[in-house]
This record gives sequence, C-alpha cells and structure tokens, in this order.
Amino acid sequence: MKSEMVLSQHWLIVTTSPLGLGCEDCHLMKLLYSIEDVRAFTQSARNRGLKIGFVPTMGFLHSGHLALMRLAGEWADVVVASLFVNPTQFGPNEDYDSYPRDVTGDLEKARSVGCDGVFLPDLKTMYPDGSVTHVSVGQLTGRLCGSSRPGHFDGVTTVVLKLLNIVESDIAVFGEKDYQQLAVIRQMVRDLNLAVTIIGHPIVREPDGLAMSSRNSYLSPTERTQARVLSTGLKKANVAWQNGLRDAASLRDLVQKKISDSNLARIDYVEVCDAESLAPIQGECVRSTLIAVAVFFGETRLIDNCLLDPQSQVS
Ligand code: AMP
Repeated sequence: MKSEMVLSQHWLIVTTSPLGLGCEDCHLMKLLYSIEDVRAFTQSARNRGLKIGFVPTMGFLHSGHLALMRLAGEWADVVVASLFVNPTQFGPNEDYDSYPRDVTGDLEKARSVGCDGVFLPDLKTMYPDGSVTHVSVGQLTGRLCGSSRPGHFDGVTTVVLKLLNIVESDIAVFGEKDYQQLAVIRQMVRDLNLAVTIIGHPIVREPDGLAMSSRNSYLSPTERTQARVLSTGLKKANVAWQNGLRDAASLRDLVQKKISDSNLARIDYVEVCDAESLAPIQGECVRSTLIAVAVFFGETRLIDNCLLDPQSQVS
C-alpha cells in the first residue's frame, strides 16, 4: 500500500488508498498555528452542532498519547490535539531545552488516530510579551511532584487553562499516568466553573510494564531495562493489597525494596496517600489509596502510580 504524506502550510494530507490516488481514505488534519486559527476551526464545528474533544500534549507522541486521542474521538465528533512544550512547567535545572521533539512524526501519528486539528503554537503565541498572570491551585499541588518540583503545577495549570480557553472544547482527556496533574486540573475546572468535562485515561504501558513516557527516550539500554522496577514494585504492592495488606508503611516498603533492586535507581519519593486529597496515609488505608512513585535514572525522572480500591480484595 502506498502512503504519501503532503505537509502543506495548513493541512496534513495523507493518502493511504491502495494506489495512493483516490481520496476515499484521505484524512485531512488541519494545522492550527494561531489562536485565531483554532477559534475559527472550533467555531465552525460548533456551528455544525459538533462536539469537540481536546488532548493537550507536549509532543514526541507515543501510544499513550494516541490512546487519549482515540478516547477523545469516542466522546466527541471533532478531536483537537495540541503540541506545545510548555517552558513554565520546567524548573531552571530541568530538561526544557533537551525535551525530545519530532513535529513531523507527531503530526503523522495524530492523523493516524483521526485527529481533526492540531494546535502548534509558538512561545510568543502562548506567552506574549507582558504576560504576568498565572493560575495556582492550592493544597493538592504542595504534595508529591509539587514538593519535588516547586512551581511545576502553576506552569501546568496556567497553560492548561489558557489552552482550554482557546479551544473551548466540550471534553478534554488527560492521562492517569500524571495522576496528580489530573487531580489538580479537575480541581481547577471545579473551582473556576469551567464548562469542560475532564476525562481520565488509564496508564498505557510498554510490554514489560514501564509506563510510556516521552522521557523514556533519554534512558540508556541498562537504565531502560532497570526502569521496569517502578511497575514491578507497584504490582507487588497491588498483589499484597488484593491479599488484604492495608498498612501504609508496609505497602510503601514493598515498593521501595523492589525499586532498590536497581542499582541505578535514585528514589525521589514513594508515597502511599489518600487518592482524593493526596495526603500521606499513616497506619491503615481505609479509603481509596494511591501509591505514587518518582524515581531518577541518571538525570531522567520517571513517575508511575497505582490506584487501590478498598473494596477489592481476593476472598
Ligand atoms: P505530556 O506530553 O507528557 O505532557 O502528556 C500529555 C498527556 O498524555 C497527559 O495528559 C499525560 O498524562 C498523558 N500521558 C502521557 N503518558 C501517558 C501514558 N503512558 N498513559 C496514559 N496517559 C499518558
């Protein structure tokens, strides 16, 4: 099958018909560079009574991102994704400059899962000179990644609110891999009365269990092999939970011990916390519980988590 990709200034057109000629299999995906482009695109969909779904990303797309786009397509008629590496969510010594980027590959992947429009703003479009306002969500952001990465969530909520205001979608999909981010965004949407429904998507994993992440591309082959200790540690705790273990410290120890099997892993945190407030649990876990981990391999910081339901126990 011949596949031909044409990248014009405003459209990505890929023909996948057997001869690469007919257009019955063509999928046109609109490339949206400015806020006006996005507004015109979504307004026209709205005028036709269509429901809009939105998936914000920082690009370097993998199957996790694509699963979010597919889910958006199940909830909405028109799917818009964004590719923007947001500088305000990176700390001064973090990987903003080296964050992996592959716009051409991303556009082809987004198109392959049926995205209808992709917003590709530049820095000045998102943060014009003179921007001084930011959004800060209290409480939830002081914990877990919020305490290891000060200011990170202010950067996230500011850019997500701006994107939600630009796209004005009916729904927006976020991954549970970034569990705390999802919780913070839900809180912001509630607190600021935003007219968008937030939908979570379960963590998409590599065959060996490692949660997919654009940052996995930083790992050396040995680090990549050892990085599976995050998911195996969480799995171990999950099995113990199913068998009735509810003591937070013991659950935490199980995960920590497994991660320590890797001589390259440097633990940032392993926390057993309340799945709603994200407050650390002391003693027995009686409500829905989250085990969240952040681990460095060299300079690469990976996160993962596991949600435990108090009702679920093998009898
Ligand atoms: P990012 O490009 O890393 O900012 O991620 C964009 C969106 O994709 C966020 O909502 C992430 O939570 C989500 N995401 C990233 N990796 C995964 C994954 N492995 N499984 C599910 N969702 C993911």
